[in-house]
Amino acid sequence: MKAVVFENYKTFPTIKEVEKPTPGPGEVLLKVAGAGCCHSDVSVFHDYTPETGTHTKPPFILGHETSGWIEELGPGVTGFNKGDAYLVYGPTGCGHCQRCVAGEENYCENMATNESLAIGLGRDGGMAEYAVVPARNLVPLGDADPIAAAPLSDAGLTPYHAIKAALPHLRGGGKYALVIGLGGLGQIAIQLLKALTGATIIGTDMKPESMAKAEEQGVITVPSDENEVARIREITSGRGVDAAFDFVGIAPTIAAAQAASGIGSRVTIVGIAGGKGEFDWYTNPWEQELTSAYWGSMSELHEVAALYRQGLVTPEVETYSMDDALVAYHNLVDGKLTKRAVVVP
Ligand code: NAD
Ligand code: ZN
Repeated sequence: MKAVVFENYKTFPTIKEVEKPTPGPGEVLLKVAGAGCCHSDVSVFHDYTPETGTHTKPPFILGHETSGWIEELGPGVTGFNKGDAYLVYGPTGCGHCQRCVAGEENYCENMATNESLAIGLGRDGGMAEYAVVPARNLVPLGDADPIAAAPLSDAGLTPYHAIKAALPHLRGGGKYALVIGLGGLGQIAIQLLKALTGATIIGTDMKPESMAKAEEQGVITVPSDENEVARIREITSGRGVDAAFDFVGIAPTIAAAQAASGIGSRVTIVGIAGGKGEFDWYTNPWEQELTSAYWGSMSELHEVAALYRQGLVTPEVETYSMDDALVAYHNLVDGKLTKRAVVVP
């Protein structure tokens, strides 16, 4: 079968012919419906070194946002029907620590000694015709379209987890939420904020196309530049926003998120770009929280899938054939995408 393989650190992935995998005990073989291209993959193949990328050691098949149909069950697996559609929960922890048994494999306590991070991050993922995944990582999709669902595994689940944790800050009328970076994650974050809160949403990006798209969703957009914070303060009558979500994660966006957020607000950094934040008792707004978030739990992915099946959250995708999978990654690297790229093998 054909697969998109990350073969070596600091090396662009390649499309290769590899052997079709066989499911082991507790696993299933999926015929892949869709595999999303996430910006985190770019860090994996562009930035990581043997020192920093110990959990994403090449070679492996990329694709940590996967959906597919049951093709074959491994030994001991029952209760699934061939052809049924599922979304794949990516994180794979040790399986036995307190976090893992609670379905929070994203926060596995034994992360340091695990060999890989997730399906498609350190072990073979969904960017192939078939993928083997643990049966417990499957989230049913019912009759909903599995291809547009694929990005929910990460671009849906990650903002969902971050937004849910910030909900106490967005309760009541007159609240404001700020979304920085209106790409794959940011676009779904907007839909989730609309589904879960009554907050007025402010969005920033540098790409006019991405801002225009957000405006169609009722978002007030502000270009990401030196006037951004002043503009957001003006929109919020000087108070600043109640919750900010930074899907870029560089020092300037972290600083902007902090400065544009008010007293008692929550600032969540989701973008993984090595940005450092600063704290100053005198100038930071009182009781402003600064936190990070990584992916989400299994039960949260079931909740995200339920929102999708109800039509409350629908990722906008552009599809690529397996032969064009590398074009999709090039377009992601070059900032040319305005919708989530999904490879349909
Ligand atoms: P993307 O490329 O689809 O979107 C990024 C968006 O940010 C683009 O629209 C881009 O124009 C915009 N942008 C870039 N620089 C900006 C700036 N200075 N100000 C405002 N906007 C700016 O990427 P994505 O797949 O949505 O991923 C976003 C980030 O989230 C990446 O860093 C990725 O690694 C990270 N990520 C984190 C988690 C997690 O669990 N924490 C999970 C998935 C992705
Ligand atoms: Zn664990």
